[in-house]
Amino acid sequence: MTPDIMVTCPKCQDQKPINLLFTAQSNQNIIYKCQSCQFEQRNIETKKG
Ligand SMILES: [Zn+2]
Repeated sequence: MTPDIMVTCPKCQDQKPINLLFTAQSNQNIIYKCQSCQFEQRNIETKKG
């Protein structure tokens, strides 16, 4: 399972847990959407470690 990784929005610098921001779709695309400023970005590469 994914730990509580905090993600910083590149637009408004708001920080939220990754599990609240990323939506993994059936085609394995990942969409990041900031709930504060509605910034949206697709197919972000996630780094491990
Ligand atoms: Zn934002």
